[in-house]
Amino acid sequence: KLKSDTKQFAVIGLGRFGSNMAMSLYKMGYDVLAIDKNMKKVQDFSNAFTHVVQADSTDENALRELGILNFDVVVVAIGEDIEANIMTTLQLKEIGVKYIVSMARSPLQIKVLEKIGADRVVAPERDMAQRVAYNLASTNVMDY
Ligand code: ATP
Repeated sequence: KLKSDTKQFAVIGLGRFGSNMAMSLYKMGYDVLAIDKNMKKVQDFSNAFTHVVQADSTDENALRELGILNFDVVVVAIGEDIEANIMTTLQLKEIGVKYIVSMARSPLQIKVLEKIGADRVVAPERDMAQRVAYNLASTNVMDY
């Protein structure tokens, strides 16, 4: 693990987006703390990253106890539970986390997350669809 003393990442929520994000960062050699409130998810990923812990990220004390302030980047990868996503992002902001990345599923959610101070908002389906669309438009499809 080459870069472990440079950047520290925490990923909250081990759905498809969160688990793939944590996996990519971990494979690049970074330390990754993964957090999920679902014990089953925590067990499934228990050996996949540096640390995998069970906690409710809407609980400010739980976040502080995990030393969330020590992380350079915290990714909020909670998709379905919009309230938990927003509450978590807000708590992280209030605690003073340096760089918060939050996942959004709708234009309104993007707006809300930006307003409460997420440093970066990603909308996985939109971003990926745009990337593929640009790629298709710039490729001469007739070549295939
Ligand atoms: P994806 O498209 O990434 O799969 P998803 O809709 O599957 O998104 P969700 O299942 O909604 O994502 O949530 C991702 C994870 O976040 C779940 O494993 C869920 O247990 C976890 N999660 C939800 N709320 C909290 C919370 N308050 N604290 C910690 N983890 C949470």
